[in-house]
Amino acid sequence: EAAISIRDLSKRYATGKQALDGVSFDVERGSIFGLLGPNGAGKSTIINILAGMVQKTSGHASIWGFDIDVNPRNAKASIGIVPQEIMFDPFFTPFETLELFAGLYGVPKDKRHSMELLKAVRLEDKADAYARTLSGGMKRRLLVAKAMVHSPPVIVLDEPTAGVDIELRQQLWEYVVALNKQGTTVVLTTHYLEEAEQLCDRIAIINHGKLIANKPTKELVGMA
Ligand code: ADP
Ligand code: ADP
Repeated sequence: EAAISIRDLSKRYATGKQALDGVSFDVERGSIFGLLGPNGAGKSTIINILAGMVQKTSGHASIWGFDIDVNPRNAKASIGIVPQEIMFDPFFTPFETLELFAGLYGVPKDKRHSMELLKAVRLEDKADAYARTLSGGMKRRLLVAKAMVHSPPVIVLDEPTAGVDIELRQQLWEYVVALNKQGTTVVLTTHYLEEAEQLCDRIAIINHGKLIANKPTKELVGMA
């Protein structure tokens, strides 16, 4: 069974904008899957539907075998989302932020778990600093740790490296690859072909709300 399965997914926003028009694809378990496309193609819309933040107009989506309509709680428990926008309480520390979300996800209380997550994204020195005092790069890394708090089998990163410098980009990649080596299925969106080529086993290309390619990275690069 696929880690993520999307069938005939469509989204028409209240403005009348058809952001997705019959998109179908599967993400294989254990893989790194890249969703590539220019700005406005519909990438975030797909992720926001998976995250439960945007209501689809039609079609189906399931995560780890759980249909997002039929089994929304199980679907959500199976995925960690790293959104584009930074959104956590500026007056909580990274440690408190992780503990808060662990509580929300019903993760058994274990302070070591939060510290391990912070260590993995190299934020252990900032565990007790207010989030508002962290640099942009540190906040991004905290977002990644937050997405992994309930140890989901799938993690989705929405444009993880947009507007990020080379050093931070390298750090994020290393972490993503390490997670994948430990068995986590990874989906990332990007508008950089190079980034997708280097990281992903398979790349789907979306444009104007339609999937226009979906191939193993090697084949796709061979075509160019
Ligand atoms: P991408 O992530 O590939 O840049 P998006 O999924 O954000 O693309 O957007 C796809 C299209 O839907 C764009 O034309 C965008 O302007 C539009 N869109 C996104 N969110 C909304 C919204 N909440 N209301 C209306 N249109 C939206
Ligand atoms: P670190 O936590 O590794 O010190 P920084 O926050 O100093 O990372 O970021 C490194 C570089 O990346 C800086 O030049 C910063 O402007 C840029 N950067 C980090 N996050 C963002 C972001 N969300 N948007 C735009 N630029 C960012």
